Amino acid sequence: MNTHKQMSEVVRIAIQKSGRLQEGSLKLLKDCGLNISNGKDQLKTQVSNFPVEVLFLRDDDIPQYIEDGVADAGIIGENVFTEKQKNGVIMKRLDFAKCRLALAVPRTTNYTGLAWFNGKNIATSYPNIVGNYLKMKNITAGIHEISGSVEIAPGIGLADAICDIVSTGSTLLSNGLKEVELVMQSEAVLIAGDLSMQKKKILEKLVFRIEAVQQARNNKYILLNCPNEAIESITQIIPGMKSPTILPLGKPGWSSLHSVVNENDFWEKIDQLKQLGAEGILVVPIEKMIK
Ligand code: ATP
Ligand code: ZN
Repeated sequence: MNTHKQMSEVVRIAIQKSGRLQEGSLKLLKDCGLNISNGKDQLKTQVSNFPVEVLFLRDDDIPQYIEDGVADAGIIGENVFTEKQKNGVIMKRLDFAKCRLALAVPRTTNYTGLAWFNGKNIATSYPNIVGNYLKMKNITAGIHEISGSVEIAPGIGLADAICDIVSTGSTLLSNGLKEVELVMQSEAVLIAGDLSMQKKKILEKLVFRIEAVQQARNNKYILLNCPNEAIESITQIIPGMKSPTILPLGKPGWSSLHSVVNENDFWEKIDQLKQLGAEGILVVPIEKMIK
């Protein structure tokens, strides 16, 4: 029956088979409550409690698979998504696998600014991104596409400079290079192709869960004891989602206050709370958080 077929629609989500994105992608889907049986050498796996099938593919191929409709969605680096120039949209930025694409030149170069690149040869695995960047900056340079070990290109005389992923800069250093220009910042993203209404709804449900997981990762549950006079000023520091929960303690004049605190300004707030007379502060992780 037609209605039955629609109910059984499954969204096929492609993630990296092996590499830097794999662990984070699997962890995110699992934290979203998806029951994924984790067969390492599998090509695909069914999720038992959510209408999703997970495909394990080479990350560079995922944009093409999505354009072709073989996969409905995928998790890849924004750098790869931008480079491949395939049909698809970013549904959600995922806050992991953060890195940057940067231009680097030999360390001994007397680098004076972008104009240095005029007439030079740049080795990269990202010809489209680099090409667009140079065009935008009005620089005319040659682009030499190579697929791996880009950082050795200047040393063997293949190019004057490179554009590659940098996270710590130690690879550049050990190849006698220095970073000179930031070309693009990247993180893992959830992308989607053209989807039926049904599949779109399923994916939106997943995005809702991803948001709850991200909120939870960025926040902590905090419990503390404080003198009643301090309740108002403490509430201003940790207002929580709507307002803190306040319970009377057995000891007269004291209360227990429960709230939520953001990871980023956590330590600063703890200091303020202590100054206001808070005691017995407990901080516990939140598993999911829905605003
Ligand atoms: P291959 O496809 O040949 O296995 P790759 O470079 O595409 O190589 P990975 O090294 O696993 O595969 O990188 C996958 C993605 O992870 C990159 O496209 C980028 O978005 C991100 N990434 C790469 N290097 C780092 C890094 N050092 N720190 C954080 N994220 C990174
Ligand atoms: Zn790859």
